[in-house]
Amino acid sequence: IFLPHLVASLEVEETYIMVKPDGVQRGLVGEIISRFEKKGFKLTGLKLFRCPKELAQEHYKDLQSKPFFPKLIEYITSGPVVSMAWEGVGVVASARKLIGSTNPLQAEPGTIRGDLAVQTGRNIVHGSDSPENGKREIALWFKEGELCQWTPAQEPWLVE
Ligand code: UDP
Ligand code: MG
Repeated sequence: IFLPHLVASLEVEETYIMVKPDGVQRGLVGEIISRFEKKGFKLTGLKLFRCPKELAQEHYKDLQSKPFFPKLIEYITSGPVVSMAWEGVGVVASARKLIGSTNPLQAEPGTIRGDLAVQTGRNIVHGSDSPENGKREIALWFKEGELCQWTPAQEPWLVE
């Protein structure tokens, strides 16, 4: 089967990655950041804070009719999260691959969820599912001035 959303694009994209409260509580912030850093993506925004209920509801608004929605909002607001913006060629689909399936028991070993989590309701990390949502979510979670454009010294060694 052909899954176009899983095929890395050649465009420079941005994606919103978030370490959820369980990832923070379990001391996995460094490990999760490290996976994206080592892959070669560029970090352009980073902060830790406790997200207000309204923000969690807006972020997950497409899921508001789902039976698990109230529990999801409770989970996301239960402690601090680490919000990140990452940039790179094909970063949206690639980050989703690095993260693994929504259900950590079905996520492949080697992925973040496959290696570090066991339950859908405690799957430690979020990643945008399309370039459009990447832009939407970064605009939602970051204020102007919180993002930083810069050129990593390693760039010529990553892309020819
Ligand atoms: N979720 C849940 N129960 C479900 C499906 C989803 O608690 O049956 C939660 C889970 O934290 C998931 C989030 O809702 O990561 C968003 O769901 P989505 O289907 O967008 O999964 P994701 O994009 O995070 O893999
Ligand atoms: Mg999703």
